[in-house]
Amino acid sequence: MVHKITILTLFPEMFPGPLGHSLLGKALDKNLWTLDVVDIRKFAEDKHQTVDDTCFGGGPGMVLRPDVVDKAISSVMEKEKARLIHLTPRGRVFHQPLAREMADSSLPFVFLCGRYEGIDQRVLEAWQAEDVSLGDFVLTGGELAAMTILDAVLRLIPGVIGDETSLEDESFSRGLLEYPQYTRPREWQGRDVPDVLLSGHHKEIAAWRLKEAEAITRERRPDLWEKYSHQHN
Ligand code: SAM
Repeated sequence: MVHKITILTLFPEMFPGPLGHSLLGKALDKNLWTLDVVDIRKFAEDKHQTVDDTCFGGGPGMVLRPDVVDKAISSVMEKEKARLIHLTPRGRVFHQPLAREMADSSLPFVFLCGRYEGIDQRVLEAWQAEDVSLGDFVLTGGELAAMTILDAVLRLIPGVIGDETSLEDESFSRGLLEYPQYTRPREWQGRDVPDVLLSGHHKEIAAWRLKEAEAITRERRPDLWEKYSHQHN
């Protein structure tokens, strides 16, 4: 299954940006996912190519016009059925289960990136856009949010990461943060690697890792710990 991604943005030159590097860049070259970037400004109709206007009700800042954004969305959505994701701090907060759900979805995704004060509400309602937030903070535009979300989603596609077993234990996949990782040298600046990891006892290593993952989750993320302990008791 090829994951088809379209970005609607006022800054098309920002893409693929970081998504064109390393594992995701290789996956893009191999066509495991495809990227189309559409410049919203192309759909402005006046000679100044205006895409925004002042907000009704007063207040500072500019809002992206519904007629312009509608044409940009239509140009993509009328070709094929797709899931429209609108990046906004007002959306449901993105997390690993949503990344997994999006990676498993066979529908193409269209990411709509806002700028300035955001996008006129009517066009979002008309297209039943899914509002998704990267977190409880405000960015200047939706592009970095789209890139971050895509990074988390696309690395879950089979074939993108060499050894997919590395996805099994990582943070959030089992509702826990990950245990600490170590590599060579065995001793570094007087610090040793925990003995159990050198023992070759797979069961003991797994038990140690689980204990460490539980301890760090309990300490740093009481919200995750509460859910996890509820499910495991
Ligand atoms: N006036 C908006 C508000 O207070 O909710 C913030 C607009 S923000 C300056 C401009 C654009 O950046 C938004 O339309 C959205 O696309 C994007 N953006 C900002 N913060 C974001 C976040 N936490 N998650 C996703 N997108 C965000």
